[in-house]
Parts: sequence; structure tokens; C-alpha cells
Amino acid sequence: MVSVDKAGRAPDLSENTGKDPLELASRELKRLYLAAPHDYQSGKRKFQFQNKLYGHPLIKQALIEAQHGKCCFCEAKVKHVAHGDIEHFRPKGAVRQSPDGHTIRPGYYWLAYRWENLFFSCQICNQHFKKDLFPLEDPARRALDHRQSIDPERPLLLRPDEPCIEDHIRFQAATATPARRSPRGTASIQLYGLNRPDLLDSRLNKLQLVRNLISLWNSDLPDTLRQPIGDNLRLHFAPGAEYLAMLRDNFPDFNP
Ligand SMILES: [Zn+2]
Repeated sequence: MVSVDKAGRAPDLSENTGKDPLELASRELKRLYLAAPHDYQSGKRKFQFQNKLYGHPLIKQALIEAQHGKCCFCEAKVKHVAHGDIEHFRPKGAVRQSPDGHTIRPGYYWLAYRWENLFFSCQICNQHFKKDLFPLEDPARRALDHRQSIDPERPLLLRPDEPCIEDHIRFQAATATPARRSPRGTASIQLYGLNRPDLLDSRLNKLQLVRNLISLWNSDLPDTLRQPIGDNLRLHFAPGAEYLAMLRDNFPDFNP
């Protein structure tokens, strides 16, 4: 994971009408909830979220640009092989504290259309690993509906746009490890599946390639050969490059 910078990129969907469709949809969800809170808590009623709103092309495009086309968790280039998901950091329809924990309903429905809660991710990270998991340091502080504040919550999962993710996750070769036994690093590595075998393989290939390139670049080559290798290496360390956090940790002093 690398810190995503989404600041100032929220698209305006109001089309100069003065009415933000995301805000209107959020208000409607709150109204529905207040009319029958127990039904939504028990799961008897469920919200119908509008994918065309939170997954609006302008929102998706803004997220893809902010994240350089990479998954906010695993840093794979999603757009090369898939459409990708709009990921809700706080799950919109139901929440679990742990993989074997019970389902808490109705989830963070009031954040379903909030820009701050949206990220772009690959389907494997979102649908196979994170799903509706959102563990808190103290589950008793969880906001259970829109009348409660999320401010007292202390999420165990790292938020893709928080600064200093490297204080919690570091890479030893291709393997993600919690920095200084960070509980948030531990939870994020586990629940985002950051060491799943396919991903680990992919990172290892990248690491070996870059290691070989650096070793060539440092060797006694004529400039005509060295320069294109340097150009290639710069691409591997550009913001849009895959697995940048791993490369930075393995080659902290590298500056082509
Ligand atoms: Zn991913």
C-alpha cells in the first residue's frame, strides 16, 4: 500500500443545478432508516444502493487518476486486466469485526455516497478479502447508525489515503510485514490479503527484475547502454508503478 492523495479531486455531480445527487441519495437513506430502524438492524429491510451514483464514471475516473490506476490495497495495476471495484472503506451494507464475527446491520449506509469513503480497488482485494470487514480497536465505539459519530472509532484497517502507511507495513523482500509489530499493519496485511500467493509471486517477479536492472545500472557499462536502463528504472519507481511500497523498502537509497 502507498498513501493515496484524493484531496481536492471530488467530482461535482450537481451539473450546476445546486443539487448534489449523492447528498440527496444519502438523505433518502437516512429518512428510510429513521422510518424503520429495527427492520434495518435486523436485516428484515435492506437498503438498495445505487451503483450508478457511487460508481458514477466521474467518481471512478477521479479515483483511478488519484490512484494511478492501481488498487488502493495491493498496488496491482487493475485497469490492465479488469474494470475494478469502487470500494467502500467503511462497508455500506453490513459490517463484521472479524472474519468469524457476527454481521452487524445495517452498516455505514450513510457513507455509501461519500467521496471520503470511496476508493478504487481490484475485485480480489475487495470481494474476496476485505468484504464487509471493518474491525475497530474497541468495537464498543462503533457508530451503529447516522446519528452516531464515527470520530471515536479507531479502525484497525489502514485507510488508503492516510499518511505514513509505511509506519505500519514494511516489506522484507516481497513479503509484507507489520512494522514494529503494528496491530494495524498486522490486521491490514491479513484482511486485505497482502501476502496471498499470487500477489507474492507477482511482487517477487518485479523485485527480481528491478534488482537485476539496478545491478546492471551500477555495473561498468558505457553510457549508451546505461542510460536506457536508467530510464527503465525510473518508470519502476514512478508513482504509477506497481508495488512501489515494496520497491521503496528494498531499495531505499536508489536514485536513478
Ligand atoms: Zn488489490
